Amino acid sequence: MSDYAFLYDSSLSQYELSDSHPFKPIRLELTRSLLHMLGILDSKHEVEPEPISEAELLKVHDKSYVDMVKAVSRGEKLNEAYGFGLGTGDNPIFSHMHTAIMGVCSATTTAVELVASGQKQRAINLSGGLHHAHKKQASGFCVYNDLAVGIERAVEKYGMRVAYLDIDAHHGDGVQWLFYDCAEVMTISLHESGRYLFPGTGHTYETGKEAGRGMSVNLPLEPFTEGESYLEGFEAIVPEVLRFFKPDLIVLQAGADMHRFDPLADLALDISAMHKSYQRVSELADELCEGRLVATGGGGYDPYRTVPRAWAGLWAALSRQDLAADIPQGWLESWQEQSPVELPLTIPDNLKTWKPIPRRAEIESHNRSVAKRLMNTLTPIWKEL
Ligand SMILES: [Zn+2]
Repeated sequence: MSDYAFLYDSSLSQYELSDSHPFKPIRLELTRSLLHMLGILDSKHEVEPEPISEAELLKVHDKSYVDMVKAVSRGEKLNEAYGFGLGTGDNPIFSHMHTAIMGVCSATTTAVELVASGQKQRAINLSGGLHHAHKKQASGFCVYNDLAVGIERAVEKYGMRVAYLDIDAHHGDGVQWLFYDCAEVMTISLHESGRYLFPGTGHTYETGKEAGRGMSVNLPLEPFTEGESYLEGFEAIVPEVLRFFKPDLIVLQAGADMHRFDPLADLALDISAMHKSYQRVSELADELCEGRLVATGGGGYDPYRTVPRAWAGLWAALSRQDLAADIPQGWLESWQEQSPVELPLTIPDNLKTWKPIPRRAEIESHNRSVAKRLMNTLTPIWKEL
């Protein structure tokens, strides 16, 4: 028996929005096969998701919305769906949509259940992380919010205080708004500033309301932020916020679209910086909540070259294993032919081949002042609590 669970079921890769859509479930197979060939994942880690009930989904989503998703999944009510964000370019309708995304919600909720109940110390669902889905609105490739459904399980069934940390390049708006007035859930998001990137929110002044006042934290970063500045911002905010909140469980949304190669966002991290951020989350879970950590995937639109290398480090950090630097030859042979780009030979990026980012000092200093402003905004609110 391992202390670490990797949620897996072949149906989880059915979340294919359309052939031409940038959200590519093949990322899951690419990552899983890399982990197997690296020798850090095997059958003792893999756990099948337990299905959740519709009642559990309805704790997060409005019934009218769930009914609409079910109807369009059967090919009905297509004309009315647009008002719910369904049938758009970002959120095309596909058959079995309801069932497929319920599967993702079940996997994230199972991950939470395993950790909250003490059966596992840590668990990961790489098919999860659909952080843009709202109460009754699909958005940004996300239909149901698996993260919120899982967090509700920990809060309601186990009475836990949950820190939700979102390091995807995009603001974790869906999760933030769903828990905006909730004292038991702290949401923290580091992302490319909404002034430049979807969904346009995630400003420092979004700090929560009513019982949730001071429980929403946003660090918007400049486009082209590199690893060093990112990690500086992370250190300036995340440890202090988590130590203030004292979580029983950390839920990490680990979208991999902050990498420089990602085509949909403009942050410029390298793989090693991403791995350091995962390692820090692991350390903070050890410091603050007896190691309890649930992680999901999220964005990541360079599916062959970047996402598997990023998430190999995520699983290694979560399961406390070392990660080799070289990518196994067998993995390259399996995937190079179908990859649209040349696959790298090592897990860390070859930074020597990267051109320097212009305005680096300006970007760093801007990020530093935003982090300072954020703490200056939060500290007085916390003092009143
Ligand atoms: Zn994203």
